[in-house]
Amino acid sequence: MKHDEEQIFYVCFYVRATVSIGRYVYEGQYIPAWGVNICNKCRQDNWNGIDPTEHERTVQLLKYRSVPIKFNAKGLLEIPRGGSPPPNSKEALPADS
Ligand SMILES: [Zn+2]
Repeated sequence: MKHDEEQIFYVCFYVRATVSIGRYVYEGQYIPAWGVNICNKCRQDNWNGIDPTEHERTVQLLKYRSVPIKFNAKGLLEIPRGGSPPPNSKEALPADS
């Protein structure tokens, strides 16, 4: 018997909280350009951009993934458009230093 194992639990890159995304529950988003999940709260808290001094991990991650780092006029990293996570995505994040 084959179950449709739809993955709906994801870990927010920022607060490392588990959020449900899918099955009509969208507590967060996947940011394809960055390859991370972000919960709605973090997205709202950083609506005008990620402060690189507060979120050094983001800068490290983008460097690790060779993503171009662009700051806005306020020196913040704007969070790209998000969407649904790819099915069965396995996050490959750099190890914490
Ligand atoms: Zn979060």
